Amino acid sequence: MRAWVVHKPGPASSGPLKLTDRPVPEPGPGELLVRVIACGVCRTDLHLAEGDLPPKAPDVTLGHEVVGEVVATGAGATRFRVGDRAGVAWLAGTDGTCEYCRRGRENLCPRSVYTGWDRHGGYAEYLTAADAFAHPLPGGFSDAELAPLLCAGIIGYRALLRAEVPPGGTLGVWGFGGSAHLASQIAIAQGAAVHVFTRAPDARELALSLGAASAQDSFDPSPEPLDSAIIFAPVGTMVPAALAALARGGTLAIAGIYLTDIPSLNYERHLFQERTLRSVTANTRGDAAEFLRLAERLRIKVTTTGYAFDQADRALADLAGDRVHGAAVLSM
Ligand SMILES: [Zn+2]
Ligand SMILES: [Zn+2]
Repeated sequence: MRAWVVHKPGPASSGPLKLTDRPVPEPGPGELLVRVIACGVCRTDLHLAEGDLPPKAPDVTLGHEVVGEVVATGAGATRFRVGDRAGVAWLAGTDGTCEYCRRGRENLCPRSVYTGWDRHGGYAEYLTAADAFAHPLPGGFSDAELAPLLCAGIIGYRALLRAEVPPGGTLGVWGFGGSAHLASQIAIAQGAAVHVFTRAPDARELALSLGAASAQDSFDPSPEPLDSAIIFAPVGTMVPAALAALARGGTLAIAGIYLTDIPSLNYERHLFQERTLRSVTANTRGDAAEFLRLAERLRIKVTTTGYAFDQADRALADLAGDRVHGAAVLSM
C-alpha cells in the first residue's frame, strides 16, 4: 500500500514527507484494519512534520482524523464489524489502570499513545486501530466533512468545556481554523456571544457567516469584556492579550499541543481578579462521543479544503502558509 511518512522533520516547504510503499498491516488482538476513505490534516501533523514535536518513531505515518471502512477485525475486537464505517482519532490507547484513567481523566494517562505519532496514522491506504478507541461516525456529513470532526472538532470541544463559558456569556476565540470554526458553532448554539480574533481576513468572514458576534485582527481590543477565551493559534504572545481581555473571574484555555513561549505576565493586568489560565491536553473518549453526538444534533457546518491523497505534502505547506480555508482533508 502507499503511505506517506515523515522521513526527515523540517520546514513544510522543504518537503519533510516521503511517499513510500509498505505491506498492508495485520490487525492484532483487539484491533481493526481500516481502509482509509478520507483523512484530515491537523496542525499537530504540521508540528510533527516540522519537528516542533519530537518524533516517537522513525518514518511514522501522520494523520489522526481518519474516516474509513473496517475491512478486518482482530481477535476479541467486537465493537465494529467488517463493512462498518469507523473514525480513528488522536487518542489511540491508554493503560486503563493508572490513577488518571481510573478517575476518568484518561487524556492525562502517562502511558497514552497517539495515532500518527506512536502508531501509523491515516496518510496511507490502510491503518490498524484499537477497537476500543475507534469511533462510530454520526450521520448527515460527507466523508470529507467527518474527518475534521475527529480531532479539530473533539479537541475544540474539550477546549470549550475547559473554558467554562457561563450561560449566555461571552467567549473570545484567538485563531480561526479547523478547530475554532467547529467549537465556535457549539458555543453559539449554546447561547454564547463569540468574538473572533484572527489575522486572516477570509477567516474573519467565515466567523461572521457562522454567527460570530464580531471578528477582528489578532491584537485588536475586544468589543466587550470576555467571560471565557480560547487560544487556538500556536502563538504565545496572544496569551497576555487574551488574559487582558477577560472579565473578572474569567477563564482562558489554550487549546493546542504546542505554543511558542509566553511573554512575561503582569499580575495586576493579566491574572488578578481571579482570572484562570489553563491548558487542554488531548481528550477522553467521553469528550469524543459527546462532541460527535452534538455535531449531529446541531448540524454543525464543516468547511473543508480538499486535497488528493498524493498532495499531502502540499496540504501541509498550505497549512503552514495559512492558505487553507477551514480544515484541509485528504481524500483517497
Ligand atoms: Zn492511564
Ligand atoms: Zn489533531
